[in-house]
Amino acid sequence: MIRDNYTLTNIVDQVERVYQDIYVEKLRREMPVIMYHRFIDNDEDKNVFAPYIHIDMFDKHLAMLKKQGFETLTFEDLADGRTIRRLEPGKRYIMITVDDGYVDNLELMLPVLKKYGFKATVYVVTGETFNRWDVETEQKERELDIMNAEQIRELSDSGYVEIGGHTLTHPRLSTLSCEQQKHEIATNKKELETIIGKPMVSFAYPYGDHNEESKQLAESLGYAYAVATDSGPLKFHQDRFQIRRIAVFPKTDVFGLWRKVRGNYLFRKMKK
Ligand SMILES: [Zn+2]
Repeated sequence: MIRDNYTLTNIVDQVERVYQDIYVEKLRREMPVIMYHRFIDNDEDKNVFAPYIHIDMFDKHLAMLKKQGFETLTFEDLADGRTIRRLEPGKRYIMITVDDGYVDNLELMLPVLKKYGFKATVYVVTGETFNRWDVETEQKERELDIMNAEQIRELSDSGYVEIGGHTLTHPRLSTLSCEQQKHEIATNKKELETIIGKPMVSFAYPYGDHNEESKQLAESLGYAYAVATDSGPLKFHQDRFQIRRIAVFPKTDVFGLWRKVRGNYLFRKMKK
């Protein structure tokens, strides 16, 4: 037992964990993981649920991030489990995540990523061709197209986007049986990996909704990371299967985003 607990890898892991705890606590600063959904280029494309952002504003967001010295990381960059990399001295890292897999991610977002040399992680639903989960409610959301296999592959092959899992039909996982959850997560993973031709490392819980079973499934099905929305510890490394994200809304202008990514946004927000 002693030998198992004191292998060099284990000691390094433990030391790194303690270092990250202290570093983040002391500086009250964490790598921001920001969350987008849709990108539009004219006001007629506005919708109700999935937060959209005008592509010109997204361009301004990335220009500000560039100016502030940010570089992007994806979960693939941390695929070996070494979350400490995000705290590299002299670097200022951010993660850009985008949920659902709308066609506009390929058509509008990708060119802007390329312009600034930034990377993003896109979480894609594979069991629907549009946002059925929002459309078939009483609020009557409009239908928004989700990428097909060819479009997903094109986005992945661009080299600017990591593709991640987001289930087949975008359910609230905590309301499903373990068997149903497994089907939603595993089948989506298999389909996406066949399309992009490589294993995936990260997953996003639809609506951020999950329970302990969902977290265990994400891990046992082979993901190294899973992102939530407004739950999870403030310190990124403390729970790799419940990573907290910062939502970007249609009204989030450049100053609004700057406040959100300064580093201590969540720490100040949680104190209130
Ligand atoms: Zn979603």
